[in-house]
Amino acid sequence: MAVPDFQTSIKESAAAATPKARPAAESDAVTPGLPGDEDGPLYASRRKVYPQHVKGTFRRIKWIVLLVTLGIYYGLPFVRWDRGPFAPNQAVLVDFPGRRFYFFFIELWPQEVYYFTGLLILAAMALFLMNAVAGRIWCGYLCPQTVWTDLFQAIERWVEGDRREHLQRDRGPWSVERIARAGLKHFLWLMVAWWTGGAWVLYFADAPTLVRDLATFQAPLIAYLWIGILTFTTYTLAGHMREQVCVYMCPWPRIQAALTDEYALNVTYRYDRGEPRGSVKKSAALREQGKPAGDCIDCYQCVYVCPTGIDIRDGANLGCIQCGLCIDACDDVMAKIGRPSRLIAYDTEMNVKCRQEGVQPIFRFVRARTLLYTAVITIVGAVMVYTLAMRQSEGINVIHDRNPMFVRLADGAIRNGFTVHILNKSVEPRRYALSVEGLEDKSIEVIGVLPDGFGVPIVEVEPDRTREVRVTVTTRQKLPPAATLPITFSIVDTADGSRARASDHFRGP
Ligand code: SF4
Ligand code: SF4
Repeated sequence: MAVPDFQTSIKESAAAATPKARPAAESDAVTPGLPGDEDGPLYASRRKVYPQHVKGTFRRIKWIVLLVTLGIYYGLPFVRWDRGPFAPNQAVLVDFPGRRFYFFFIELWPQEVYYFTGLLILAAMALFLMNAVAGRIWCGYLCPQTVWTDLFQAIERWVEGDRREHLQRDRGPWSVERIARAGLKHFLWLMVAWWTGGAWVLYFADAPTLVRDLATFQAPLIAYLWIGILTFTTYTLAGHMREQVCVYMCPWPRIQAALTDEYALNVTYRYDRGEPRGSVKKSAALREQGKPAGDCIDCYQCVYVCPTGIDIRDGANLGCIQCGLCIDACDDVMAKIGRPSRLIAYDTEMNVKCRQEGVQPIFRFVRARTLLYTAVITIVGAVMVYTLAMRQSEGINVIHDRNPMFVRLADGAIRNGFTVHILNKSVEPRRYALSVEGLEDKSIEVIGVLPDGFGVPIVEVEPDRTREVRVTVTTRQKLPPAATLPITFSIVDTADGSRARASDHFRGP
């Protein structure tokens, strides 16, 4: 069998993914060709996919990922984090009224929106890196569309039975039992969708309080509105649209196709081992005659379990989310017929070629692209950690009076006036000691603020506020003509000693 070039193969599949003709029973499981296929119709209506239950390693991994990710999503709003008396104690909270985003020990302010840019860059690079190493594992295991669709399919299987039973009932006439089962399924789907929307709004307010307010119909209207929107989208996307989101709506498969290469691990049908395919009997007979016979017995188990309804044996396909369930199904078949497992496996196209040429397979995880993605993740991550660790919760801005620039006092001293803005970005009130450096024999006065016992003005600033004060600085120092001396204003938090500085000039006659 000719070896298809991987890049070309996956790109071609974007334009033409029409499966080969199959017996009617099998074709129920196969997603039709994408509209625009030159050999097919411009529009093809969807054939419902009835994925069969499968047991195995990858199914187990998917269950674990599902439990962990959904557990985090539904449970995280109820996790508490002590930030003291002036801040909310919810570990993860988007606090719009307080203009804060809290994530455990990290607290972001509105002016720090660039951290979200950094997070987006990190997320994109992590996705690229995952793709370069192991294909679409994000799609197959972690994507919310995959996780919720998996959950909805599990509910469907529990209520409607596995593939065969569900198929038969759907082909039969409507009966009381069929209506009851369908009703129960949609009710359970709506409950999950409703709880999904409900969990989402809990990230925007104190979760226990909002739950109580929602239950007593005292929550704000916007909360009910968002729950309604997310209930609808979850129910529609995970219950009804399912694989169509991955095949038609999501841009990632197209981007992924452009980013992948022949060294990336992908769920691969090892056609070098599987072809020529045939029944167990036929293959055994061929082997007895010393003729080539593949391990694939054409049983379609890999197709029946596929959540997107594609046949991995047709080669790389945009519809394949790389979930690995066909590996479990085929391993089960191989065990039953006494052939080695992993006829379908996570493998690279390069290795299939190597095996065909009798060369030892190679795995190259360290490549230019993986190094590049890792370097970007490391640099952006390090910059974010450094700036987060070094950032200040206070700030000071100084504006020199324009008119007059200076005043000579009766005793010959020179006075300059300034407008000083002191920022308190924390969630508790702060007291700052204000001082000026760069002048000798000086005094500093803050209008309306009394100095402490040492003559240092102490400015109190409310939480999350900027306070503007008028400051005069006076010196008896002998100044040169037309003097412009650099000076530095400092504020020091009297509680924890954290400080901020701002530079300006002192002007003389
Ligand atoms: S499950 Fe394995 S043996 Fe059966 S059709 Fe698929 S690849 Fe062939
Ligand atoms: S072909 Fe296999 S890996 Fe791809 S989506 Fe279907 S079951 Fe998952």
